[in-house]
Amino acid sequence: MNKFLIVANWKLNGSINMISSFFEYIKLHASIYLEKNVIVIAPPTIYLERVYRKIAKINIFLGAQNVDINLKGAFTGETSITMLKEIGVKYVIVGHSERRLWHHENNDIISKKIYLIKKFNLIPILCIGETKYDRDHGKTITIIKKQLDDIIAILGKLVFQNIVIAYEPIWAIGTGLAADPKNIQLIHKFIKNYVRIYDSSIKNILVQYGGSINQKNVKSFISQPDIDGLLIGSASLNAEEFFKIIQISHNFLKNKISYYKYFYISNHLN
Ligand code: PEP
Repeated sequence: MNKFLIVANWKLNGSINMISSFFEYIKLHASIYLEKNVIVIAPPTIYLERVYRKIAKINIFLGAQNVDINLKGAFTGETSITMLKEIGVKYVIVGHSERRLWHHENNDIISKKIYLIKKFNLIPILCIGETKYDRDHGKTITIIKKQLDDIIAILGKLVFQNIVIAYEPIWAIGTGLAADPKNIQLIHKFIKNYVRIYDSSIKNILVQYGGSINQKNVKSFISQPDIDGLLIGSASLNAEEFFKIIQISHNFLKNKISYYKYFYISNHLN
């Protein structure tokens, strides 16, 4: 399978009307772009089932923005991995900087979530990245290493098999300050090499970029050889903008098969 992975993270946005018009737009204008890419939409939990009904017959997959570390019980407000799986979720975002910040999720909690997501054969999208302070103090690589090391220490060296890693410099998220694509390329390469130090058996490591992607800057990112996909926040809320990004990626990548990143995730099409 040679695919480019594009994930929409709607965060705490959307409504019944927005979902209707979003999928109406896809039906009219965007279905031809769904073949060559893997597109995932992660709406708020309350809308998962509604979105699932919309994507049931088209080549888009359902993502969740979060999962609880417990399977059931007295955990008010939470959603379990079995519930997500039951309604059709395939990908679960973990370690997003907003959850690290506002919900105090540390690498222990993130590891527990990754463990459960993998145990139930779904695909974690692990977000990592540094703050502006870290970047300005030359600590980007130290922070990334720590985020990966802590997870490896808890879950073992093979943890990155069948995982998507999303590199999201926090200062670039939702700010309009997209990072320098050449710099991102270096960091993605570093992440892949670092994972391979632990797990030389790993075949494909899929690393997405996230941070203020839009139709104007997308080409400069997808043309980097180690950027295997995109995690998109603000620009995924508007169907026209989101599918323009997909269209640009599609047109740029379609004749360059070497740019399509081969990855095989065994449960992806189950
Ligand atoms: C995100 O929150 O994961 C993200 C990439 O957001 P934005 O595209 O708005 O920067």
